[in-house]
Amino acid sequence: MSFQGYFQNLSLLLPAEQKTNRLTEMNRLLSLLKQFFGYTSFRPLQADIIKHILEKKDALVLMPTGGGKSICFQLPAIYLPGVTIVVSPLIALMKDQVEGLVNNGIPAASLNSMMPEAEQQRVKQLARQGRLKLIYISPERVKAEADWFLPSLNVSLIAIDEAHCVSHWGHDFRPEYTQLAILKERFPNVPVVALTATADKVTRTDIIKQLNLHEPGIFISSFDRPNLSLTVEKGLNKKEKIQAIVRFIRRHPKQSGIVYCQKRSDTEMLSDELSMYNIDAIPYHAGLPHDVREQAQNDFISDRVNVICATVAFGMGIDKSNVRWVIHYNMPGSIENYYQEIGRAGRDGAPADTLLFYSVGDLILLRQFVEESGQKEINSDKLEWMRRYCEADVCRRRVLLSYFGEESKEDCGNCDVCKNPPVRFDGSILVQKALSGMIRTGEQVGMNMLIDILRGSSRAEIISKGYNMLKTYGAGRDLPFKVWKEYIYQMIQLGYIEINPMSNYTLKSTESGRNVLFGKDTAQLARYRERVVESSQSSSGYKATPIRPKQSVPVDESLLDALMQLRKQLAEREHKLAYHIFSDDSLYEMVAHKPVTLAEFGMIRGVGDIKLERYGRIFVSLIRFVLKMPKLPQ
Ligand code: ADP
Ligand code: ZN
Repeated sequence: MSFQGYFQNLSLLLPAEQKTNRLTEMNRLLSLLKQFFGYTSFRPLQADIIKHILEKKDALVLMPTGGGKSICFQLPAIYLPGVTIVVSPLIALMKDQVEGLVNNGIPAASLNSMMPEAEQQRVKQLARQGRLKLIYISPERVKAEADWFLPSLNVSLIAIDEAHCVSHWGHDFRPEYTQLAILKERFPNVPVVALTATADKVTRTDIIKQLNLHEPGIFISSFDRPNLSLTVEKGLNKKEKIQAIVRFIRRHPKQSGIVYCQKRSDTEMLSDELSMYNIDAIPYHAGLPHDVREQAQNDFISDRVNVICATVAFGMGIDKSNVRWVIHYNMPGSIENYYQEIGRAGRDGAPADTLLFYSVGDLILLRQFVEESGQKEINSDKLEWMRRYCEADVCRRRVLLSYFGEESKEDCGNCDVCKNPPVRFDGSILVQKALSGMIRTGEQVGMNMLIDILRGSSRAEIISKGYNMLKTYGAGRDLPFKVWKEYIYQMIQLGYIEINPMSNYTLKSTESGRNVLFGKDTAQLARYRERVVESSQSSSGYKATPIRPKQSVPVDESLLDALMQLRKQLAEREHKLAYHIFSDDSLYEMVAHKPVTLAEFGMIRGVGDIKLERYGRIFVSLIRFVLKMPKLPQ
């Protein structure tokens, strides 16, 4: 990384500072937000948090992944006179953030033990000379530097990112984090802001205690990520899932996405299968050699490969903002995990799609894991919530948010249930047919066999077992296999049928099922509908959201293509990541607004002063070329 830019860029800070007297603090913050980040407004809570920090008070910030935590300390860092120390647990994350800052003309650097000694010395020198606005430091270095180097700096603010790492309760405990209270000792008058995407109360209390925060302001933003569309597909078999994935990826051409699998072998199986459909996909799991994994991760981050089939080991510590979709090949064991995994999509705020495959087989497997786990009760509660989410026939986002303790008053309009609400009908006769079929076999059959009996299939096993002699044989001929499957799923959800995992997943009737069978009760089912899984990225019906009032992705494919090409070429030439040049969100804005002058280009979201100067001309020229307009005057 070159430090040249830092010296040049420092001068950029001066004009803004001179304006202080005339502008109010808020106006000044907004103008810095535009100047350095290219954004014209704050997201919810960002302004409150920043004002609180500027009053020199400690803060605890809880926001979901992609919610916009970084601005909360990066903007004060620019505003305040000295340097901001940022503690961050992963070197990859530090590097990513520092590169993003430098590209926006903000002097920043990181300090960690993986860097050559000479470079560390250079960073320290720059910091001592007051030439850095932010210095990222790994937690284990904090202790080593707490006596000499850090106190030699003019520190204005301390930010502790991923602060949940301090807590034993969390999923990500790091012992070095527990020593960070030393910062408060060394800098008693410097505000500390701790940030995390983990919301639970125990972790919260732990952070405050361990970091020794002084009467912190606690800011909890909504965990809603309205730009993520939510879809669940039920009961598909392996072949159908692969088909569905292929169709999904074809609807998302040239977009980056992750397919999460439970099993390592599935990541390899899937990437092979996808390759047969000419989809360039690579596997990733902890069992692959280190260099293969690193290569895979780099190929994905730098857009050389669009699709990665991975176990959940993948994604920690990646900040790639332009992941446009996430598929879950299997159901996750908890809503926390699921939310964290889908949260890796759409971090830039532009629409992103998620798809989860839910099957009773996965559920049963997970239940077995829970039985064997140390914390049986907690885990089974978590799994139960996940099941509820998958089986929901109300707005899925409301289920998610209620899990996080948030109340939502409206349906989201961006989940499969909202887009395709269930229509109920009296399905008692169907329940009766299914149950009587089951009972007549002595409750010895699984779902597929039952459906075959109901549909009057003449496959060998049915004949050999004499099921073709049953009274219900062929009684459900009028409905296709997949429709029966959907209805039997519903009967399981509604508690009319149980699955017996101990006996080959055979179906068993329940008491409430038998009540319907004997006419003592009726059953309401939701009518089967051929699902069209729409992408929110092409849907005009996408609902307005608080984060982004306007959610639409351009239809102008050729312009988008050209802009993506240009971004890619620039990224290669400058050895940068494409999304550090411009986010997908900024490219979509360019397509939507078609800026043909530099002034117009400067108004695009994500275009700050430096990027306007560096890339404005070349992007505007391209847009004019595609629109067949005369060249931009010199
Ligand atoms: P987090 O750290 O909470 O996961 P980030 O700080 O990486 O989230 O922010 C997520 C994305 O949102 C980034 O691409 C960031 O540039 C963008 N963003 C943050 N604040 C704003 C804002 N006020 N307006 C527009 N985009 C924003
Ligand atoms: Zn919804």
